[in-house]
Amino acid sequence: VIRAEKVSKHFGRTAVLKDITLEVHQGEVAVLVGPSGSGKSTFLRCVNRLERIDGGRLWANGELVGYRQVGRRLIERRPVEVTRQRQDVGMVFQRFNLFAHMTALENIMHAPVLLKRMGRAEAKVRAAALLDRVGLGRKAANRPAQLSGGEQQRVAIARALAMQPKLMLFDEPTSALDPELVGEVLDVMRDLATDGMTMLVVTHEMGFATQVADSAFFMDDGRIVESGSPNELFGNPQHERTKAFLSRVR
Ligand code: ATP
Ligand code: MG
Repeated sequence: VIRAEKVSKHFGRTAVLKDITLEVHQGEVAVLVGPSGSGKSTFLRCVNRLERIDGGRLWANGELVGYRQVGRRLIERRPVEVTRQRQDVGMVFQRFNLFAHMTALENIMHAPVLLKRMGRAEAKVRAAALLDRVGLGRKAANRPAQLSGGEQQRVAIARALAMQPKLMLFDEPTSALDPELVGEVLDVMRDLATDGMTMLVVTHEMGFATQVADSAFFMDDGRIVESGSPNELFGNPQHERTKAFLSRVR
């Protein structure tokens, strides 16, 4: 579902992604770990074209992200096509970014009504079902300020799911939460994984990674330094940089 082949990306003269090659298959959960500034968020943002790559090839859901291939040439996709591609990729950020003036239910209904032209009645029924799914059926009328951080993040996950994405990206979804709220968000993510959602997750939650993920990638200074099963990567890292990083986050 995600395939990257030698993806590179610069900000000005600084290379932030260097020859990133990785694959996440249908129904798999992959975790991306690595030190601050290593390029994890930038890579996720490239997958849904919030950033453009400047070298290599990147596919999501079977299509080149942002380009179409005609013979051997790559032609930039039009904005409407990029928007369509982006709708199949759900993203959840560290900060929940909910609309403050809307209730939990309205936050979830918003995108399907606006972007998929779904009728409000249908969107409402679906949003209510999604709130149930993340365990917040009783909080439909609450605004973000009336929800805990963990609840807000669960609404953010439901909001992403409302667009029926084929793939979900999570960028440190629990790192802004108080420790006692982390578990409820990871539980929702675990359920999603069990339901077969394809997920790429930037996280330092090693317990979640080893229990839920099929594969793990360690990134440092814009490169994938090491990858493997979570047990291999976290239990028996081969590279000095991986070892040093893991000894710090544990
Ligand atoms: P963290 O763990 O702190 O979230 P990260 O691995 O997600 O780090 P990125 O946010 O992807 O790292 O950043 C990678 C590098 O790119 C950093 O050196 C950062 O300063 C730089 N960078 C990110 N966004 C931009 C931007 N819009 N313009 C210029 N440089 C940027
Ligand atoms: Mg980041």
